[in-house]
Amino acid sequence: MGDDFNEVYRRLPGVGEVLDRPGIAALASRYGQDRMAGAVRACLSGLRERVRAGTVTATELEGAVKALDAMVEQEVALQCRPRLRRVVNATGVLLQTNLGRAPLSEEAIERVCKVARGYCNLEFDLVAGERGKRDVLLEELILRVAGGDLGAYGTVVVNNCAAATYLALNSIAEAGEVIVSRGELVEIGGGFRIPEVLEKSGATLREVGTTNRTRIGDYAAAIGPATRMILRVHRSNFEIRGFTEQPSLGELVALGRRAGVPVFDDQGTGCVLDLTEVGLPAESSWTGSVRSGVSLVACSGDKLLGGPQCGVLVGERHLVERLRANPLYRALRADKLTYAALEATLTAYVSGREGTLPMIAMLRQPAEAVRRRCEQWVQVLQSERCRAEVVPVRSVIGGGTTPGATLASFAVALRVAGVSEGELCGRFRGLDPAVVSRVSEGRVLLDLRTVQPAEDEEVVGLLRELLLTL
Ligand SMILES: *Cc1c(COP(=O)(O)O)cnc(C)c1O
Repeated sequence: MGDDFNEVYRRLPGVGEVLDRPGIAALASRYGQDRMAGAVRACLSGLRERVRAGTVTATELEGAVKALDAMVEQEVALQCRPRLRRVVNATGVLLQTNLGRAPLSEEAIERVCKVARGYCNLEFDLVAGERGKRDVLLEELILRVAGGDLGAYGTVVVNNCAAATYLALNSIAEAGEVIVSRGELVEIGGGFRIPEVLEKSGATLREVGTTNRTRIGDYAAAIGPATRMILRVHRSNFEIRGFTEQPSLGELVALGRRAGVPVFDDQGTGCVLDLTEVGLPAESSWTGSVRSGVSLVACSGDKLLGGPQCGVLVGERHLVERLRANPLYRALRADKLTYAALEATLTAYVSGREGTLPMIAMLRQPAEAVRRRCEQWVQVLQSERCRAEVVPVRSVIGGGTTPGATLASFAVALRVAGVSEGELCGRFRGLDPAVVSRVSEGRVLLDLRTVQPAEDEEVVGLLRELLLTL
């Protein structure tokens, strides 16, 4: 036995020998010689390890050496898998920041592809045949959706809403004071804290009111010669309830006009929809904010607006000109692919096809429709070892919007004999595309509101295949 082993062990091929096998050499043109060598080394050392540990018979080892080509191919494919991968979101959190927030609409994806494939008029005026500006490309469209008047208002698009806020503060309030309610000195997430951003922008924070109550008079009393701006920050990821008070945007606008101080609303969500239409509590909206007459509004492109990651600023033209003239704008501006996706997203609103945006479709999908899809999944996934059933759940909007508000939904609940729910979740994450689920009361839950209906067949098939191997 020992001799047999030594014999086989000796016969394990060397790295160079394996690389020269025709099947392996052919793969090098796809993966590159370096990565092939790495994969071969990994496979061989895995085999050697098994021999040393005595977990493999001589016959098995011989078989493994013969099957080395396939093993190496699998290994190299695994090592070369993209690090940024597609994920199926079965968490029921519509705007999952960790999962990349809003998915794009088909039209947006097509626009991105078209623009990416060749050149585009990003900064070229096709009528005049001379240099143009990217800032003006979508100005009319943004204002048409947001509700501002093209004569009086302008727009700026940057990388995200955090950048928009930073650019606005720095352009308008550097070396001056910005008045903010103590109830709005918030952390948005990812370490984006209003007091810190304010400090970095070069402006000085002038806090007014208290955590739970700030009155219009508090703002008025704080206005002085150094005041450059009144900042309102939408409480997008938390609520203050009980004995609370805060002036309306309209009151702030009136005060700002009287005192000659611009009012900047960090609105955040970019919500255009009336959320009460889908049974959610009324929420601050992007359009409401612009229409209230504030001087400047910032929102995210990839939250409730349902578009690409970006920050959109809408504001009085003279303020927008100051933002554009700031050298920081050059560092924060959005790229052509973002413009392409944003244009398609906004066009969907203008043409009454906002239901084609996955974000809106997920919000509007009736719970009953989700339940029917869950039932179909259960029929496919149900087996002797796997108990599958449909259970009512609540989906959440997430991503720093509508704190506390939930939507009625349904999930497929799975329990597999002999497999813990943590392990099952882990196996789902290991699939390609990865399926991200959650655990509740000893079961794995797949909330189908956040799974795109177009993905149903593929994903349920993938899960069924996996469940059969457990
Ligand atoms: C989400 C949010 C931000 C940050 O937006 P990003 O696009 O993630 O940078 C800023 N302010 C408010 C009020 C928000 O809700």
